[in-house]
Amino acid sequence: MMMLDKKTDFASLRCDFPILQETNRGKPIIYLDSAASAQKPRQVITAMSDFYYQDYANIHRGIYELSERATALYENARLVVKEFIHAKKSEEIIFVRGTTEGINLIAQSLGRSRWQAGDEVILTIMEHHSNIVPWYLLKEQIGIELKVIPVTDDGALDIEAYQNAFTPRTKMVAITHASNVLGTINPVKEMTAIAHSHHVPVLLDGAQAVPHMPVNVQDIDCDFYVFSAHKLYGPTGIGVLYAKEEILLDMPPYQGGGDMIETVSFDHVTFAKGPQKFEAGTPDIAGVIGLAAAIQYLQAISMQAVFDHEQALLDYALPALSAIPGLRLIGTTIPKVGVISFVMENIHPHDIGTVLDHEGIAVRAGHHCAMPLMQRFHLPATVRASFGLYNQENEIDALVAAIQLAKRLFN
Ligand code: PMP
Repeated sequence: MMMLDKKTDFASLRCDFPILQETNRGKPIIYLDSAASAQKPRQVITAMSDFYYQDYANIHRGIYELSERATALYENARLVVKEFIHAKKSEEIIFVRGTTEGINLIAQSLGRSRWQAGDEVILTIMEHHSNIVPWYLLKEQIGIELKVIPVTDDGALDIEAYQNAFTPRTKMVAITHASNVLGTINPVKEMTAIAHSHHVPVLLDGAQAVPHMPVNVQDIDCDFYVFSAHKLYGPTGIGVLYAKEEILLDMPPYQGGGDMIETVSFDHVTFAKGPQKFEAGTPDIAGVIGLAAAIQYLQAISMQAVFDHEQALLDYALPALSAIPGLRLIGTTIPKVGVISFVMENIHPHDIGTVLDHEGIAVRAGHHCAMPLMQRFHLPATVRASFGLYNQENEIDALVAAIQLAKRLFN
């Protein structure tokens, strides 16, 4: 039995998502790929179209009412994000294109200007490519070293290896809050405390945590936190970089352009104070408004209720999937978010994905932008089913039935 939050009827929330009334291969769509990108509730779509219909103008420039309205919507969204992740100040919220751009911003702004050859960044083997490649680029550019923390066979980080990874040259810990392949929720508060005991700042990739659980950046005490709106039921092309204010004030800009300056001449430029220093050019105003609408939608439900709902789905799905002969779960450690990776004996993940697709079920099959982790488990790929707040137990039943069908077809 699903333990629904008393106030929230998750089955009825499905109606908020117009796309879930559509079909996939002529069958009712069963969307189990929210880790790749979540579907959007009507409230988000409407907030964005209302903006274009009623309030559209560029921000921070106009002296007319429409522009003031657009600016107010944009800046209010900063406040909404601040409250959602419990930052101390809205000045600590920078709008970026997504998780990827947030990490690149830190690597290029802070890393490239302040670090030297031989300085070290601690990563883990479960990182998404977007938390590997920006640091690799920095290694190519200035000669930093990457130290990689391994995972155990059940998908937990090796905390002893982490504790031993610090040296006087360590400049940053950059780790994922929750794995997009294993689902593992890492003990980021404890890991941050360990890093801080070595005077090392911590960047958390929250792409797979923020959509599934309450996040409080002040409680974790991390220095940087990044996430993407599109996995949080918001639009594509927009995301958030949270950074502690004292660090932001000291960081050089990432890109130059309009809106991030105070004064410009050909000989000298002074930069805007606060988050605008990192938001060069006209931003994705509609995206920011859509992100705020997504957060407000989630706040009305409560992230704790979303977490509980998805944990109940996990409790239902994990034993049902494990009972299928030949199925091997990849990443069984707890706590985990609603992300389940698995492989089947003698059937390639892409073949399973194709059978599921024909049954109307959307999952992802592949390396999930985590090639080092795939190599660690000696796998070319996995199938990944991931949950959103709209998923229900009957969809897990359909998933199990379709995997059994694939077994019959391929064995
Ligand atoms: N980190 C993790 C853990 C992810 O799952 C993803 C998206 N799959 C990213 C980073 C990259 O996010 P985006 O493509 O939205 O920048």
